[in-house]
Amino acid sequence: MKDRPLLMIPGPIEFDPDVILAMGKPGTSHVDPDFIELFGSALEKMRDVWLAPSGQPFIMSGSGTLAMDMAASNLVEEGDAALVISTGYFGGRYAELLKRYGASVTLLSSPPGEVPDILEIEKELQRKKYKVLTFTHVDTSTAVKVDPEPMGQLGRTYGILTILDGVCSVAGEEIRQEEWGIDVVLTASQKAIGVPPGLALLVASRQAIDTFLTRKTPVGNYYADWNNWLPIMEAYEARKPSYFGTPAVSLISALHVSLCQILEEGMEPRFRRHATIGSAFRTAFKALALDQVPRSDKVAANTLSAPKYPEGISGAELLPQIKRAGAILAGGLHPEIKDSYFRVGHMGAVTQGDLLATIGAIETGLLTCGYQFPAGAGINAAFRELNSDR
Ligand code: PMP
Repeated sequence: MKDRPLLMIPGPIEFDPDVILAMGKPGTSHVDPDFIELFGSALEKMRDVWLAPSGQPFIMSGSGTLAMDMAASNLVEEGDAALVISTGYFGGRYAELLKRYGASVTLLSSPPGEVPDILEIEKELQRKKYKVLTFTHVDTSTAVKVDPEPMGQLGRTYGILTILDGVCSVAGEEIRQEEWGIDVVLTASQKAIGVPPGLALLVASRQAIDTFLTRKTPVGNYYADWNNWLPIMEAYEARKPSYFGTPAVSLISALHVSLCQILEEGMEPRFRRHATIGSAFRTAFKALALDQVPRSDKVAANTLSAPKYPEGISGAELLPQIKRAGAILAGGLHPEIKDSYFRVGHMGAVTQGDLLATIGAIETGLLTCGYQFPAGAGINAAFRELNSDR
């Protein structure tokens, strides 16, 4: 009997067996020709996944926060003005992080579940000259999605560098970095990219690199400094040995496998698969009469959902029951509403079978906790949604 529950949190996710197998191979030298080929090829494939044909990719050992740190420390100098669009916990993190590098930060945030009005953002850009604008594509604390295209447009109109925190979106939600004019798109390995935690990934536009190259002051973070890493990325792509800090050889081998799988699926079908599964989850929660944190489908992410607990049932009661029924889910994260909702991750290698099994486990958990609803309502709704175009 298989007794392992499905891991359906918003990262780390369930990993494809071939990705895990790649990590189990014997260790290799970071300057072995075979590894140099893998690293160089992974960098090239990132451009295809990010849809940024002339972008500069970086692969670093670290988590998503390092990718945020890298963008901030290389692009911001003491006194630069930064506008942070916040739709939850991770927007707040970016504001704090930017301050460490001397940025003068203006935070534009929305109540949990909402997105700041684009007109309000534009008004702020007209009021003050900013150097960078950051936004969280999908804030993992609220499951709220910001539309990146108008952000890129604003960046171009007002001559500002745009930084997209895509830790919970890259390779799941639609992103067309170059077409949409986004200067930095950053992520981490453990979410829709589908590789165990430990890699910080980022693609920078030519304009972002030029801004870095014309800095007047040294980068305030030794490890993240592009002066150290840009030559390394260029060397690996030119298939030449190089060293600054030891690369995570096993994780990069796994990344290469995962990027091949992503591109084999194709970016358009992959975006569509995430959209279908995201929509089916939301439909199931509606059928179970569970409210959700995002105020509308328009601002709801496809990579995770954030349903609220029914009245009188707490996470401490419900989540262990759902786990017993087969799915590991996450509790709330946004400090203002933390105890009122839970989170279900559905990205990367997620299948329709995972979706139905997860809704089934949630229904079992709800029934065990005494919630009244027509059993099977969520599964039925999700099933109908998945098959609506047949
Ligand atoms: N930004 C977002 C949107 C995230 O979801 C996360 C992680 N959940 C981070 C940043 C930070 O990434 P990490 O935990 O890998 O440092």
